[in-house]
Amino acid sequence: MDEVLESPAVKAYLIRLIGEEGINLLEKFPEEGEWSDEQLAAETGINLNSVRHTLYTLYEKRLAEYRRIKNNETGWLTYLWHLRMDMIFEVIREDLETILEKLKARERYEEENDFYICKACNMLYTFNEAMDVEFMCPACDQKMEHFDNEILLRALKKRIEAIKETLGHA
Ligand SMILES: [Zn+2]
Repeated sequence: MDEVLESPAVKAYLIRLIGEEGINLLEKFPEEGEWSDEQLAAETGINLNSVRHTLYTLYEKRLAEYRRIKNNETGWLTYLWHLRMDMIFEVIREDLETILEKLKARERYEEENDFYICKACNMLYTFNEAMDVEFMCPACDQKMEHFDNEILLRALKKRIEAIKETLGHA
């Protein structure tokens, strides 16, 4: 676990995902074995709800797994957890791929459209939308102006390049 958290990129990702308290749980998570949420709370001193929330968030990302055991006498179910931090790089990679696809779609949209703005309302319209209302803002009836999206587009391209480089697509 310590090795995983040593990477600043991984740590930053995990802080965004589960917060400082989640990191706290990861750091104190016993190296071996499987643990119930109650055991983990008792072992680490982190409150039970926070432990559960972190485990569930990790589970959704496939970074934690559980095994369910049924007590034959009471019928109660116990969930025993262990971490799957070996998945972390794959999970981060998948997230980056998803972000990349969204940014590329946005880039296409920005490249394929010409934009008009009402500076009074700060509303943006595509060429077709602006045409439909004869370049007069439907909200305040002022004349729209052409909006230059060059800066936005340049920032998008920069982020796309950076992610591609991280993913080794460049
Ligand atoms: Zn307006």
